[in-house]
Amino acid sequence: MIPYGKQDINQSDIDAVVEVLQSDWLTQGPKVPAFEKAVCEASGANYAVAVNSATSALHIACLALGVGEGDVVWTSPITFVASANCALYCGAQVDFVDVDPVTGNMCAVALEAKLNIAQSQGKLPKVVIPVHLCGHSCDMEAISRLAREFGFKLIEDASHGIGGSYQGKRIGSCAFSDITVFSFHPVKIVTSAEGGMALTNSSELAEKMALLRSHGITKAAALMTRPTEGDWYYEQQQLGFNYRMTDLQAALGLSQMARLETFVQTRNELADTYRDALAQVSASVVEPLSDSHSAWHLMMVRLDVSAQRRQLFDAMRRSGIQVQVHYFPVYLQPYYQSNYQFQEGYCPQAEQFYQSILTLPLHCHLTDASVQFIVSQLKALMDSTANTDGGH
Ligand SMILES: *Cc1c(COP(=O)(O)O)cnc(C)c1O
Repeated sequence: MIPYGKQDINQSDIDAVVEVLQSDWLTQGPKVPAFEKAVCEASGANYAVAVNSATSALHIACLALGVGEGDVVWTSPITFVASANCALYCGAQVDFVDVDPVTGNMCAVALEAKLNIAQSQGKLPKVVIPVHLCGHSCDMEAISRLAREFGFKLIEDASHGIGGSYQGKRIGSCAFSDITVFSFHPVKIVTSAEGGMALTNSSELAEKMALLRSHGITKAAALMTRPTEGDWYYEQQQLGFNYRMTDLQAALGLSQMARLETFVQTRNELADTYRDALAQVSASVVEPLSDSHSAWHLMMVRLDVSAQRRQLFDAMRRSGIQVQVHYFPVYLQPYYQSNYQFQEGYCPQAEQFYQSILTLPLHCHLTDASVQFIVSQLKALMDSTANTDGGH
C-alpha cells in the first residue's frame, strides 16, 4: 500500500530522542525551549508555546484571546474537527464560513457577507480561524483587513502549513494574525510524534498560553502576585491544563526542523511532477494562491465528475494506493447535527467541494516513478468508471 502520508525518520532523529532518554530530563528539560526557538526562527514569529497537540494549541489560543461563554468563533467547514471543537471547549458557540470553490479555503467574500449580517444582528465573532488547507495559505490580506474593520481576532490553523509563505511572509510569522498554530502529528510536514505549537508576536498572549499549558501555574519571580515564601513557592493563577510537550517529543521535532526546507522542497517537486502527469486527467489540482509558496501537505484533486468519486476511491484503494478525502464538512458530523442547528446545504460550496475531492499520496518517500504510477492508475480507473457510468 502506498500511504497518503508518511513521516521521515532518520538516524539523527533517533539519536536525538535516545540522547534525551539518557539525560536527566524526559519532560520540561532544555529541548522544549530549543524546539520553540527553532520554530520561531524558521517562521519569523517572536514567541512560541509548544504543547502536546495542535488541538491543545487551538484551545489555549482561543482562551488567551478571551473566548468564553456567549462568544462566537467562526471557522471553515472543510477542516479537521479540532479547528471547530476548540471553540466549544471554551463554552463558546461555533459557526462556519463557506469556502472558495477553487481552493477549498475560507472565502473572504463569504466572510464579509456573513460579517455584515452578523453585525446587523449584534452577533459578530470574537475569533475567526482560517485553515490553510493542503498548506495553501488563505487570502490572509483580505481576511486580516476584515478583522480590523469588524474588530475580531485571528488564529491561523496552519496545521498543514509549516514551511510555506504568503506574500513573502512565512506562515507562522503572524504578519496577518494574532496567533498561528502548527501540528506535528506524523502525517504533517514535520513531526514530534504528537505535538503542536502556538506562535505569536504578542508577549502577553505568549505568557497567557504558557500559563494555560501547565495548570495555570507559574514559578517565574516576575509573574508572582505575592511575596515568595521560599524556593518551593509557585502560584496557580488560572485554571490551566497539562498540555505540556515532553523533551522526547521536542528533541524529535527539533531534529526534524533541520530538514524543514528539504521536506518542503521535496513536496514541491513531487507536486510539480503530479501537476504535469495530471494534465491528461479530467481532474484539477487544488493549487495555492499565486502570491504564495505552499508546504504542500496534501495533493488534492477535484474530479470533474463527482459521481465517480466513491468508485474511484474504492478502486484506487484496491490497487494499493491509499487515497483519502479531506474533509467531510464539520457541521455535518453526527455530533454537530445532534447538538446544533446546521441544515444540509448550510455551506453549499463546502458541500460541493467535499463531494468532488480526492487526496492522492504525497510524502517525502514517494518517487517520481510512484507519482507516475498513481496518476496512470487514476487515469485508467477514471476511463473505466466513466464507461460503466455510461448506462446511468
Ligand atoms: C491535524 C490537524 C489538527 C489537529 O492536530 P493535532 O496535532 O493532531 O491535534 C487541527 N487542524 C487541522 C487542519 C489538522 O489537519
